[in-house]
Parts: sequence; C-alpha cells; structure tokens
Amino acid sequence: MTALPIPNIELQHGTQIPQLGVGVFLVEPSETESVVSTALEVGYRHIDTAAAYGNEAEVGRAIASSGLAREDVFVTTKLWNADQARAADAFQVSLDKLQLDRVDLYLIHWPQPMFGEALGAWKALVDIAASGRAAAIGVSNFEIDHLQQLIDETGVVPAVNQIELHPLHQRRELAEFCREHGIAIEAWGPLAQGKSDLFERPELLEIARAHGKTPAQIVLRWHVQQERIIFPKTTRRERLFENADLFDFALSDAEMSVIDGYEAGTNFGPDPRTFDAR
Ligand code: NAD
Repeated sequence: MTALPIPNIELQHGTQIPQLGVGVFLVEPSETESVVSTALEVGYRHIDTAAAYGNEAEVGRAIASSGLAREDVFVTTKLWNADQARAADAFQVSLDKLQLDRVDLYLIHWPQPMFGEALGAWKALVDIAASGRAAAIGVSNFEIDHLQQLIDETGVVPAVNQIELHPLHQRRELAEFCREHGIAIEAWGPLAQGKSDLFERPELLEIARAHGKTPAQIVLRWHVQQERIIFPKTTRRERLFENADLFDFALSDAEMSVIDGYEAGTNFGPDPRTFDAR
C-alpha cells in the first residue's frame, strides 16, 4: 500500500483532518465503491460524502472492505436539507448506510434561511457531537450571518465551513470571518468543477511548466498553501495520483498573487442565500 504524504490540519478541539481527500459528489453509486476503494488503496484517508449524494452505502462498503482500521480513515457526511427538523434520525440513517458507529465530521449541507430550521439542526448536531458519534461538527455553504446566528444562539462554533471556493470565486470576506473564528475552510469545487477556462490560462500554464506540474496541481497547491482542506473529485486512478502530488513543491508569493488575481466572483454552484432544494 502506498502512503501518500498528506499533512493533517487540526480542527477546533484537536480533531486531525487530512488536508486532502476525495469527494464523491456526482459519482454514480455503481462506481462509488470502486472509486473509494482505489482512493484508499493509493493512500487517500479522507472521504467526503453526503446523504444527498446517494452513495453513502457504497462508501461504507469500500471502507469496510479496505482492511484499514477505523481510526485511519476520516469520513465526512452531511445532513440533507429536507431533514433539518429531524437531524438525529437522519444521522442514524447515514451511520447505518456507512456501516459506522461514528463519523469524523458531520455537516449541515445548506443553510436554507427561508425555512429557519438550521439553528434547530445545529443544536441536534451539538448533541450528536456530545454523544461521541461525530468527532467534529460543522456546516456547509453558510454565509457570515448564518454562521453568526449559530454562534450567537449556541456558543458553539462550527469546526469547518465547506464552501464553493476556487480561483474565480475566492470568498475573501467570508474566509476572513472564518479565520477570525477558528473555522477551517473546506473548499468545494476546488478546480471550479472543471467548468472554467482556468486550465488554459497562459500564466497558469507558465507556472505549471516552471514547476513541472499540471495546471490542476498548481490550483490545488494554491489552496493547500492557504491552509484549506480540499477533496477534488475524480473517478480516474491516474488523477487520484496527480491530485495528491502537491507536497513536494511550493508556489512563490508572486505565483500565488497571479492566481489571487483570477478572482471574478464567478460561482458555478447555487447561491446559498436562495438555494431551497429539499
Ligand atoms: P471539483 O472542483 O473537484 O471538480 C471536479 C472535476 O474536475 C471533475 O469532474 C474533473 O472533470 C475535473 N478534474 C479533477 N481532477 C482533475 C485534474 N487533475 N485535471 C483536470 N481536471 C480534473 O468539483 P466538485 O466535485 O464539485 O467538488 C469536489 C467535492 O466537493 C465533491 O466531490 C463533493 O465531495 C464536495 N462538494 C460539496 C458541495 C457542498 O454543497 N457542500 C457541493 C459540491 C461539491
């Protein structure tokens, strides 16, 4: 088995999370077990799934058959929007599908401010954490006011906020709020979901050439140097290796600034303030 040299990041209260994992959003259930098994085989130790992805059972099967000790794999799943008022039950369903008695990180998937249920869900997650069945709890797609409400009402600060963040959408104000409050950022869509012209930009190609890396590796390294947690999605074995080959080089300040300069306010996912799918 290959051990990849992936560093840990420490979340509040000491939970260690591998900075790099693999995400399984839009990975077909029929493909998920083999993708996760391959990821674990090549050395990934962090899997990001969600009840809404419909593939928790397959993630669980891959973990069970990996032969790895439970404490060696970091598993995140997420509470779906329709279940915010029944989080405790929904969490148990996720655990059962994953064949686990605890997860490492449990997140509220979207804030859904139009329904006003996220605070109640957060209180349920606080209870789940107290019971020891989630080592850490956090949120996803929360804006500053959504975070502030949870903190004001419960005094419990989310360990992470998992948000769309990539060179074209850098969320600087939100990122600064998270930094000030000790909330780690997990960047979803770290490669802009492969939907942009990013990888063809001449400056990025030049930086990639200079380091003997691919444009995707340069963008992932840009995240890593800002202490973000990432789990780029891929179903291809060679890209699992490519996306993990980030820890033997560093971008200079000038190179970081070039990518910083790509900020365009362009999001590819839904707007968290109005996203009401359940
Ligand atoms: P991503 O930025 O990881 O993009 C994935 C796409 O990038 C792939 O489909 C592939 O086309 C391309 N890609 C991957 N590796 C590449 C490489 N080395 N070179 C070139 N192209 C490459 O986007 P994502 O899948 O949306 O985000 C990653 C993970 O974040 C998801 O799998 C999921 O776990 C999580 N996520 C969370 C939310 C949320 O609301 N919390 C939303 C979306 C995704």
